[in-house]
Amino acid sequence: RRRKQLSVDEYVEGVLAGDRTMIGRTISLVESTSPKYRKMAQEVLLKLLPHSGKAHRVGITGVPGVGKSTTIEALGCNLCDAGLRVAVLAVDPTSSVSGGSILGDKTRMNNLAIQENAFIRPSPSSCTLGGVTKMTRETMIVCEAAGYDVVLVETVGVGQSETVVADMVDFFLVLMLPGAGDELQGIKKGVLELADMIAVNKSDAPNEKRAKMAAREYKNALHIMKPQSPNWSPPVVCISGLSNMNLDEMWEKVAEHREKLSTTGELKEKRTEQQFRWMWAMVEDRLMEALKTHPEVMGQLDGIHDAITEDKLTATVGAQRILDAFGLTDTL
Ligand code: GDP
Repeated sequence: RRRKQLSVDEYVEGVLAGDRTMIGRTISLVESTSPKYRKMAQEVLLKLLPHSGKAHRVGITGVPGVGKSTTIEALGCNLCDAGLRVAVLAVDPTSSVSGGSILGDKTRMNNLAIQENAFIRPSPSSCTLGGVTKMTRETMIVCEAAGYDVVLVETVGVGQSETVVADMVDFFLVLMLPGAGDELQGIKKGVLELADMIAVNKSDAPNEKRAKMAAREYKNALHIMKPQSPNWSPPVVCISGLSNMNLDEMWEKVAEHREKLSTTGELKEKRTEQQFRWMWAMVEDRLMEALKTHPEVMGQLDGIHDAITEDKLTATVGAQRILDAFGLTDTL
């Protein structure tokens, strides 16, 4: 049975009332790819925007098996117990390839899913990272307008997904496994540069010593890197998501970071810069798509590629021809 089509105001009112069914329907609208619904979604988002921005946005990453869902569930329950409302979103660009998202999955977070004050949404099943990113950012606006105090964004480090998640949150938490040396080799160095904190998970009893060793190594690794903020040196903590060990202490640091960066005005600045980058990324995506699907450009592209392959054309002249075909006739 098809559901009745809602109006823009019905979506907006439902979200502002914190109605979970309406939040879900609004997110589905935001994730729609049909031009008609996309236009409607933008109208809804524009009305929700003034009500957004108050949540604490935290990204969480780590390799599969590190304990992301276990930790998010325990942390989420702690925060709900403290009276906060928690939304969990996920960014997984592989979900449409693998046929189902393994992130932000309710069946993996049963205890959190049943909480009155929690909202869990899996990764949108769009195929490109750009598409997933856009939908997740917009879903974040919906959740914030609905009054969620904390938005946790989970991601596996596939391709560039860590970078895009780090660029949509206030705080980026990287989960690591205990054990030293070997582990450090396998980590993409770029991830450490994004981290506002490293938590060595699975630091419970049998792993205690190895966890401490790992923490020391990560501390040293962070030490030789230039910190992102002059007001924050990323700490390293040992936790256990499974036994809820040190999660409160970990969250205290997240809160402390927010406090500090709010006071210095850095948080507002960071968010504004994220919005600018997001805006230009969307413009670039759209422009590139327009260029690559332009009939004149498409007609000439093979010829230009062949000429470059055969050393008959320089890259500069090739670029000039593509831009000419697109209608940009200024000389490069
Ligand atoms: P994800 O793939 O990163 O989401 O990892 P999961 O949360 O699914 O956890 C992977 C496995 O590690 C599961 O069997 C968990 O029970 C286990 N695990 C997660 N956190 C901990 C922890 O703090 N200590 C221990 N000993 N095991 C954990």
